[in-house]
Amino acid sequence: MAKGIDLLKLPPQAFVKLLRKERITRFFFVYDAKTKTVRPSDPLFRPIAEFIQFDRRDFMGHEGIFIQVSRRYDTLQGAFIHRTNRGQAAGGVRYWSYNTMEDYLRDGLRLSVGMTMKNALAGLWWGGGKGVMAVNPDVDKHNPITRSAIYQEFGELMSSLHGCYVTAEDVGTDVTDMANVFLRTRFTTCIPAHLGGSGNPSVPTARGVISGMEAALDFTNAGGLEGKTIAVQGMGHVAGPLIQYLFEKNVAKVIACDINPHIVKEVREQCLGKNLDARVVSLDDTSIFGMECDIFSPCATGAILNPRTIPMLKAKIVCGAANNQLEDSERDGAAIFERGIVYVPDFLTNRMGIVNCANEQYGYVGNDPVIEQHLTKDWEFSIYRIGLKVLQESRLTKTPPAKVAMRLADELSLQNHPVFGHRGQQIIDSLVASKWHQRTTID
Ligand code: NAD
Repeated sequence: MAKGIDLLKLPPQAFVKLLRKERITRFFFVYDAKTKTVRPSDPLFRPIAEFIQFDRRDFMGHEGIFIQVSRRYDTLQGAFIHRTNRGQAAGGVRYWSYNTMEDYLRDGLRLSVGMTMKNALAGLWWGGGKGVMAVNPDVDKHNPITRSAIYQEFGELMSSLHGCYVTAEDVGTDVTDMANVFLRTRFTTCIPAHLGGSGNPSVPTARGVISGMEAALDFTNAGGLEGKTIAVQGMGHVAGPLIQYLFEKNVAKVIACDINPHIVKEVREQCLGKNLDARVVSLDDTSIFGMECDIFSPCATGAILNPRTIPMLKAKIVCGAANNQLEDSERDGAAIFERGIVYVPDFLTNRMGIVNCANEQYGYVGNDPVIEQHLTKDWEFSIYRIGLKVLQESRLTKTPPAKVAMRLADELSLQNHPVFGHRGQQIIDSLVASKWHQRTTID
């Protein structure tokens, strides 16, 4: 690898070019917990290993990071495996554009930790991981033939990893892509329903948000949802059914907004005769944050709770489906807490996406009790019960709820799977021993 080049500052495509020059198609980083060091597959990658090892923001002792360049369309495809004590790492594959290798690596590191926390807090016997593919700007990512090839090769990556990571759908990936992954591996979920998959998780996700809202209302002795006013940002796949459920619970009013006029029209038509104030807004419109309401529910994009928007909030409760709502979890979690607003952590309320698909291989039961238990008030790991537990401990310890939830999730994530133990780590060790990076076929 060329000397003097800062690999982390390279755009992913320039990095891929360097790899091609060095005739490298696969490489990995694994964590040696005994020596507390990150070991690269090749000394060429030592600077990246050191960056990962000494990073205090996104690296949390990830067990392994396995990356390949696809044979066709030069796409960087990675599996970020954070922790597998509770089971194989589970989490979706993101297909996204990144400016630098540092951005690419940070996203994978951060997202895989998030999955460890979400899965553990949900009581799932799964670890946490994430797939990340960097969009190659020279390739038409909308072309179905190109996409099919890229996702099939991602499937091959899954098979080569012998099951230490099981992938799923995520931002930038759709159900057709998942069918292409499934052509090359059994280590995936979220495949189309006609192939045995669990289908669209948005409705259960909306129900999970309702559970989170009910926990927060009970915590504040504010009664049920009846008669309340809810402001919802986004009116898409989750927010659409959420709004319907809110009216079923007899809320007084829903104020909702979306940047897409067709979606606003559609939801308006579904809610004829209901007290829905639905608005089309521009992308930078923040008026929804300042609405007079009981609950603000972010259901659009991430990082929307930040120093610009938190002071605008009039709601007493924030509870929604969007991922990574806090722009900076420390800073913004503390700011909401100081304002006396009850924040229900996103990775607690939006768990139903992964809950719905994680255990697909066990088959399906009508009104599946294994799924429904997450939405009850009596199961110890239900969204409602964990929500109340987190909020009560937050009040007792004067600690923001997201921090409390992280602590609890971290503890749970270190419990070993009752049958298979810490098998993911054993798989990773065997991949390293068999020189995974030197093989380029499915094996
Ligand atoms: P979606 O794309 O169907 O809906 C999001 C909606 O937000 C879109 O209609 C979009 O037009 C709108 N939007 C984007 N920016 C906006 C803005 N600034 N103001 C107002 N509206 C805006 O996505 P979804 O599946 O409904 O998911 C919503 C959020 O929940 C995402 O953050 C997603 O990652 C998260 N989530 C979803 C699921 C699930 O089951 N679908 C599970 C877990 C988490």
